[in-house]
Amino acid sequence: MYELIIIGGGPAAITAAIYAARKKIKTLILAKSFGGQMLESYLIDNYPGLPALPGVKLMEKFVEHLKQYEKATSKGDFDLAMKEGEAAQSISQESQTFLLKTDRAAYSARAVIIATGKTERKLEIPGAADFEGKGITYCATCDAPIFRDKVVAVIGGGDSGQDTALQLLDYASKIYILSRYEDLKGSNRELQEKLKNNPKIEILKETEPKEIFGEKFVKGMICKNLKSREEKKIEVSGIFVEIGSIPSANFIDGLIKRNEKGEIIVDHNSGATSCFGIFAAGDVTDISAKQIVVAAGEG
Ligand code: NDP
Repeated sequence: MYELIIIGGGPAAITAAIYAARKKIKTLILAKSFGGQMLESYLIDNYPGLPALPGVKLMEKFVEHLKQYEKATSKGDFDLAMKEGEAAQSISQESQTFLLKTDRAAYSARAVIIATGKTERKLEIPGAADFEGKGITYCATCDAPIFRDKVVAVIGGGDSGQDTALQLLDYASKIYILSRYEDLKGSNRELQEKLKNNPKIEILKETEPKEIFGEKFVKGMICKNLKSREEKKIEVSGIFVEIGSIPSANFIDGLIKRNEKGEIIVDHNSGATSCFGIFAAGDVTDISAKQIVVAAGEG
């Protein structure tokens, strides 16, 4: 029996665990894998004190920091347990305690913090499912080098799409960015200017993908201009999808209130959910700024 179980392995979960350990709360932090979405971020340039770090490096620092408390636990200074490789499947309430079931075991605690983040939204147009892994990818950090000297498209003009385009500049010969809007979206104006002024990049504004075609692998895409309704065929070998994400909170169905996007509704001061004893932090919540520094702060 723990006092607190934290579910998740990203910045919100790790920060919550560091604070809990320092307060000597008997805590279990449990994650499918430590790292979360940061592992897919090529360059993080807005975390104070640690400028221009690849996501993997920033995450290593977070985990290293957390592990200091786990190590100190054996000396009796703290009471923190870490488990990796287990996925939460359900939470139920039994009088004053919560029972968390994972795909491997069950744990109980007096309080729970859900910090499970979000997962990428899948593209749902003809061809998208057929060519996944055959030219369509959701991870530039993993797959950008495969497209050396090739023409590629990035779907989504938000921060993630821009981060992906930036990574692709080192490899691809041409990069289309499809944005639903008149301009790129997101917070990094400097990056947006850099992308707009790069001759390798063509931004297809107010444009959505309509269909993906190919044979064994992707050969191209039909795009539709949302204003003129005109359709255009572009030939590409790779398609990087960055169209947002959905909160990873389905395992908790029923016990706490979520909004229409599926995000856990929290009190923005305390992180409390609608169920007394369950808290949530980070990108899984209805707090609008989905940023590492915000998730860490919520944690
Ligand atoms: P966003 O929702 O910001 O951007 C995704 C874009 O894709 C939106 O313009 C969205 O349009 C569009 N889109 C959605 N569905 C489709 C579709 N079916 N076809 C075509 N386009 C589609 O998601 P991001 O992942 O870019 O960012 C999520 C959050 O994470 C943001 O708050 C962002 O600021 C943050 N982030 C921060 C980073 C950083 O600070 N370095 C890096 C990466 C992300 P619509 O808006 O209409 O849904």
